[in-house]
Amino acid sequence: MAIATAPAVAEAGPLGDALQQLDAAIDVLGYDQGLHRLLARPRREMSVSIPLRRDDGSIEVLSGYRVQHNFSRGPAKGGLRFSPQVSLDEVRALAMWMTWKCALLDVPYGGAKGGITIDPTMYSTAELSRVTRRYTNEILPIIGPEKDIPAPDIGTDEQTMAWMMDTYSANVGYTVPAVVTGKPVSLGGSLGRPSATSRGVVHTALAALAYRGLVPARTSAAVQGFGKVGAGSARFLAEAGVRVVAVSDRYGAIHNAAGLDITALELHVATCGTVCGFGGAAEIDPDDLLTLDVDVLVPAAVEGVINLRNAHDIRASIVVEGANGPTTNDADAVLDDRGVLVVPDILANAGGVIVSYFEWVQGNQAYWWTADQVEKRLETRMLQGWRSVLETATRRGLTLRQAATVTAVSRVADAHLTRGLYP
Ligand code: NAD
Repeated sequence: MAIATAPAVAEAGPLGDALQQLDAAIDVLGYDQGLHRLLARPRREMSVSIPLRRDDGSIEVLSGYRVQHNFSRGPAKGGLRFSPQVSLDEVRALAMWMTWKCALLDVPYGGAKGGITIDPTMYSTAELSRVTRRYTNEILPIIGPEKDIPAPDIGTDEQTMAWMMDTYSANVGYTVPAVVTGKPVSLGGSLGRPSATSRGVVHTALAALAYRGLVPARTSAAVQGFGKVGAGSARFLAEAGVRVVAVSDRYGAIHNAAGLDITALELHVATCGTVCGFGGAAEIDPDDLLTLDVDVLVPAAVEGVINLRNAHDIRASIVVEGANGPTTNDADAVLDDRGVLVVPDILANAGGVIVSYFEWVQGNQAYWWTADQVEKRLETRMLQGWRSVLETATRRGLTLRQAATVTAVSRVADAHLTRGLYP
């Protein structure tokens, strides 16, 4: 195939970054413009209005999206996000990253993402149930165990997945556990799914420490975000002997140079809803958490937090991306120049989709595995992913992100080329 000039990228933000990463991978792989265009555009996207009757009787209309970036290697797969920042372009970027993540870890899916522009903390449980059910009803024609399988993301959880599964099942007339993953175990969820993403983050963090010749018991970490991914990452890092000195959430950040008691902190957050006010630590400026003098930094909240404003000040020698897209491309180049090892999102946080795949397999077979089986298989796949990305990076002289993206894009492109263009 001829090496071609990449189509120009006009978008800013996560979508611009995702498209630039694709451009760079296409340049390395030497694919033509036709294939490049095919991979740059989502295969299918749906924007929906979600009318909601509030508890006080008033009516609000929310915006929701489902983007299926690619399904050449299998059904589309990706989370559903409830956040005031959700936009169609953000969902497009997240869907593209899901395609690369699934291909990189060799799970038989394409990539998708969904989102609703809503601050879930401002709505009652009954209202969130109505929003979720109406959204599910709107996107029903394009989801299903063989089409597209949603899962939790920012602002959603296993209850959200239970409502989606129930709404889908009521519509088709029978119970379909495999339409979503990240469900409660009582409805066919997998043991080990809630902790899977953070376990995977810590498998790669420990592998990166070993690669850099560092011993966990003599290292420290800071974790941004204390939700499903951040809290588990802090807990498993601490269990591995790493001193977790700082964590943050959307309300603030806390620090204790001697190491935080993560179990006590989780109890505090379960009661108070925030890390702020925790007795065993001092409060710090949330921006300062990112530039603390630690060995490992785990951004596990939102996109774009490591950017040109702070990249030169990052003191961690290893960044493990629990969140999707936490480092802008400009900042990524600065970190690379400064010798900071960045374990990219599509590898570091892939534990969630790996165990979502296990959950879908279990649901389709109606046969459930033990927590131990799930966790061992997760670890095996995460470490295979790490070794393969490291090997490609070393052999081709690429960063870990470039190596991961090149591997993933080549697998998706190979599926396209082998299947051929219809008609
Ligand atoms: P979550 O809603 O459970 O938690 C998000 C956390 O980030 C909360 O503690 C919130 O207070 C905090 N936060 C929000 N904005 C912040 C800010 N500006 N600064 C500091 N903290 C902030 O969401 P989650 O599921 O843990 O997802 C976090 C990230 O991980 C997202 O990028 C998501 O796409 C990614 N991710 C999640 C999964 C999963 O299985 N849940 C899998 C892969 C990737």
